[in-house]
Amino acid sequence: MHKIFLMGPQGSGKGTQAERLSERLGIPFFGTGQLIREEVASGSEFGMKLKHIILRGELISDVDAAFLLQQRLKKPDTQNGYILDGYPRNLSQYRAFDFDMPTHVIVIDVSREESLRRLGGRLTCRACNRVGSMSAGLKPGDNCPCGGEWNLRDDDAPEAITRRLEIYEKETALVIAEYQQQGIVKQVDGMGTVEDVFERIMKVL
Ligand SMILES: [Zn+2]
Repeated sequence: MHKIFLMGPQGSGKGTQAERLSERLGIPFFGTGQLIREEVASGSEFGMKLKHIILRGELISDVDAAFLLQQRLKKPDTQNGYILDGYPRNLSQYRAFDFDMPTHVIVIDVSREESLRRLGGRLTCRACNRVGSMSAGLKPGDNCPCGGEWNLRDDDAPEAITRRLEIYEKETALVIAEYQQQGIVKQVDGMGTVEDVFERIMKVL
């Protein structure tokens, strides 16, 4: 049984690894962002409540997110395990997740410099939302193949990325420390190719 919590900073490639692991192990993967989107799209009463919170520009509470996870874990496809991507991110979420226990907490280690290098310079087309990179020679204001304009979103500015990485380092470290006491944390070096990192993860499972 694999109940895997996959953690790592933005740019650690954990989304990609979650997808691969899911394929290899034959168990589903999900994150709270995805569950929120699905609930909203379902048009349920709870989904409508979430939609209003989002429209007000507020964050979904830890209790609501935990409820969504709890509902998701009741689906039969999680019977042989599951992969949870990027959750819990802080102690409050850790405490709200009191209805199941991971068997493995995998932490993909990537230095702040490397995360910044990987995330820096991401451009988004204003028209088609395609993603490009300044490292590939594109500049904000240039035209995307669709004719739209490449834009550096505020979220992708280096200061915003650094701020998110600092929050991750500070808050998630406390969550990892809790799981460490339970002896289920495996640190994996996140440098190298997707394949390299995937093999390292498979080794510690
Ligand atoms: Zn475009």
